[in-house]
Amino acid sequence: MSLLNDRLDALRGPVPAKGHDARTLAALTTNPGCTRRALLDAAGIDKDAIAVHLGKPRPLAKSSLALRSGAVFEQQVKADGGAELLRLLREVLGLPLPEAAHTDLANVGTQDASLQVRHAYTRTAILEAVRSTSPARTLLDHPILQLTVAGNPVYLEPDVVAFQIDGVFHIVEIKSFAVVDGQADPAKVAAAVTQAAAYILALRELLDSEGIDQNKVSDDVILVMPRNFSRRATASVVDARKKVASLTRQLSRLTRIEPLLDTLPPHITFDLAPDQDNRPTRDPKALAEALQSTAARYTPTCRHFCDLAYVCRSEAREEGSIDVLGTAVRDDLGGIDHITTALRLSDGTREPSPDQSDLAAALQHAHAVHTQLRESA
Ligand code: SF4
Repeated sequence: MSLLNDRLDALRGPVPAKGHDARTLAALTTNPGCTRRALLDAAGIDKDAIAVHLGKPRPLAKSSLALRSGAVFEQQVKADGGAELLRLLREVLGLPLPEAAHTDLANVGTQDASLQVRHAYTRTAILEAVRSTSPARTLLDHPILQLTVAGNPVYLEPDVVAFQIDGVFHIVEIKSFAVVDGQADPAKVAAAVTQAAAYILALRELLDSEGIDQNKVSDDVILVMPRNFSRRATASVVDARKKVASLTRQLSRLTRIEPLLDTLPPHITFDLAPDQDNRPTRDPKALAEALQSTAARYTPTCRHFCDLAYVCRSEAREEGSIDVLGTAVRDDLGGIDHITTALRLSDGTREPSPDQSDLAAALQHAHAVHTQLRESA
């Protein structure tokens, strides 16, 4: 066991590390400046359990109705041997009809909670496809890929890997948010593409381990979504190159976690000290203090991807941090960390430092306009 692992284990306490999945990996790229998240993720700490113990859990991201309707849409697209999906792939990738074939791994290794068996089948199917001279297999449904994260294998489950299209693999993601008049919610599309980027990296890692050219995995991902709130599916090709690059950067940072650990006070731990029934016994006040010794970088978008969002938001509000106002305001007020400072510069009760003079003038102008508008209303 390495010294690094010992330090991470001490942060987590005597419970198994919580593994990554494609969503948590994708989240790494959304707020890369947050040391708190980087440390907790590296140690495999259950952030949701911490938030619950501190009385600030994140509400469920999706209702059970939305989850059910997402599952129904996915089943519909994959029904009849992936008939609808193949039709869409022919449309967007020009997949020739005779090459259409569908391999479903859903029933492979169902007794194996570790997913190793399904991963082994996936690996064999993919390598057979690369080495085969016949283009017989086209779609691999319910595959399991493996990605090395901070030295440990993480299993990931893409919706589909589509392959043998001019010898190039594509990741297909099936999402239940609608495309209306050709437009889908940009934030949801970005989240889906970031998730697909994790699958692209995992597939490339597999090929690389066999000395096969990683360019056989496309940077283009195929998003399949309902059209205009109907059950009719539509597909789009989206370039994931930037997301792949950004996720690669974040993963390399995870393996250099030691400098962040060095900033922590000695003997700090996020151990919830579970009792025999797995109920946390840790004093919430002590836990909150431990958390505050790590630097957070809250932004309102944290609510979409991080289990600690409500903990960090309340902390940022108590500190009067500019961060709660969002990244646009934070960038506009670069160099000012607190809302009180901005307010005092705007009403002239605080003398600006030389590097704040332009910003103070802009704030005072905004304050004067706001006062005039209020008085004339
Ligand atoms: S919610 Fe907190 S821990 Fe999570 S990314 Fe945002 S600031 Fe970091």
